Amino acid sequence: MTENCIFCKIIAGQIPAKKLYEDDKILAFWDINPAAPVHFLVIPKKHVSGPAALAEEDQDLVGKLLRDGARLAKENGIDHFRLVMNNGSEAGQTVFHLHMHVLGGRHLTWPPG
Ligand code: AMP
Ligand code: ZN
Repeated sequence: MTENCIFCKIIAGQIPAKKLYEDDKILAFWDINPAAPVHFLVIPKKHVSGPAALAEEDQDLVGKLLRDGARLAKENGIDHFRLVMNNGSEAGQTVFHLHMHVLGGRHLTWPPG
């Protein structure tokens, strides 16, 4: 657990979250400030600060994150969805524990702002 990391604290159960899926490697929970009718986050239990900090050994973990995110999207009623990972504050990253946004339930415009 990385100190002062809000998502590590959610994993450790120190702060509450509305979980929708959990296993030994990943956790999925609803975003506290949803940007779409369906908006949840999928995070690795291992602390990685963001996509640019991923190591070669994390490749299977990221593949699982993506596949499980897509499966959970479908299970939560959205066939059309967007998967987003922000890297760095200029790209909108505010929490520096890797997370994949899963967004859907409305028409999503492209390109993003
Ligand atoms: P990003 O801006 O890509 O770093 O995304 C961080 C996301 O985490 C935002 O969409 C926040 O609304 C969400 N978030 C921050 N704190 C919490 C929390 N305690 N529980 C659920 N979602 C959170
Ligand atoms: Zn963390």
